[in-house]
Amino acid sequence: MRKPVTGPMSGEQVYDLTIIGGGPAGMYAAFYAGMREMRVKVIEGKDELGGFLHTYAEKMIWDVGGIPPIRCAALIQQLAEQAVTFDPTLVFNQRIEGMIRHPNGLIELLTHTGARHLTRTVLIAVGRGVAELMRLDVEGAERYELTNLHYTVTRLDQFRDKRVLISGGGNSAVDWALELAERGARVTVVHRKDEFRAMERNVGAMRQAVQVFTPCRIVRLHGEQNRVHAVTLLHTSTGCEERIEVDDVIVSHGYSRSEDTMVRWGLPLEDGMLRVDEHAVTSLPGVYAAGDCSIRPGKVRLIAGAFNDAVLAVNSAKSYLEPEADGMAYVSSHNELFRERNRQLRES
Ligand SMILES: Cc1cc2nc3c(=O)[nH]c(=O)nc-3n(C[C@H](O)[C@H](O)[C@H](O)COP(=O)(O)OP(=O)(O)OC[C@H]3O[C@@H](n4cnc5c(N)ncnc54)[C@H](O)[C@@H]3O)c2cc1C
Repeated sequence: MRKPVTGPMSGEQVYDLTIIGGGPAGMYAAFYAGMREMRVKVIEGKDELGGFLHTYAEKMIWDVGGIPPIRCAALIQQLAEQAVTFDPTLVFNQRIEGMIRHPNGLIELLTHTGARHLTRTVLIAVGRGVAELMRLDVEGAERYELTNLHYTVTRLDQFRDKRVLISGGGNSAVDWALELAERGARVTVVHRKDEFRAMERNVGAMRQAVQVFTPCRIVRLHGEQNRVHAVTLLHTSTGCEERIEVDDVIVSHGYSRSEDTMVRWGLPLEDGMLRVDEHAVTSLPGVYAAGDCSIRPGKVRLIAGAFNDAVLAVNSAKSYLEPEADGMAYVSSHNELFRERNRQLRES
């Protein structure tokens, strides 16, 4: 492995590759860049690896090659474990907001905290930005978040036979309504619009299975000892209010995403994504993009697509730094890097 390089300021260590974003693309890139014996740093705007997968952590994933149906939370765990195989430096809670190229070719990444990171190449793997949960915009709602006001559902069985109000109109809201109704919950769904943004077939099934109020929204929560026990709804087309008793409230209002970040980096965008060539190369030398933030012919917006992008981008970065290096990593099955680890695994 190459000797550590220090930067022009403060003796700071310079990485071969800095990956912005710790979603599937960033995590797999961290692993693969380790196979290419690169010094890697991953900078993630949130406090954990996983990226957008956290927004559907309770769902089952079927379409990642070689992995039988798996709960998304477990897939995140496995991806994160693989990502740290070669001990990359991980930096959390720092959002990259700017990029400066120095005359010596080094790239300096600027974060929202004022911290700076020096690197020889950059892989942008920011997906559709840092996803922030849209909380219920009703006075005092946060008081109930530790008890019976939920923003995600991890154990469906906890709602068995309960009166559950779901607020939201996307796939998650509709799926939860159907799954809870199947478990005997008495479900009411409220959505501020008449149309749902979910699969038509599921919306039809939901309308058959549960009570649906549209256009309608929660305007007040009534609680005791930090538990909500009733909700006032406003039917917005009539202006009428209605109070209903509940055991639990589930809010599924989606996520806001900092999609404008890349604009501030001065990179050309197409439909809000970074245009890359077939090798994941952007218009800036030494800067690559992978995963959902990138666009190119044949781009696959899936976890499997993010892995493939990551390999392309890392190989491009490696060739940029060492033009004489092989175009791709040596296959893992015969790779000397794994000899000792294979021995340990076989013996354990
Ligand atoms: C509802 C839904 C269900 C899906 N189901 C499946 C499925 O079943 N199978 C499948 O293969 N795919 C599925 N997908 C698609 C899959 O989630 C995406 O293709 C995948 O998450 C893309 O990974 P990514 O690493 O490119 O981006 P992301 O997962 O979005 O990760 C990007 C990361 O970058 C971080 N970040 C963003 N901006 C910055 C910044 N400025 N500085 C630092 N960090 C930053 C974010 O916090 C995030 O952690 C689904 C998508 C949705 C919306």
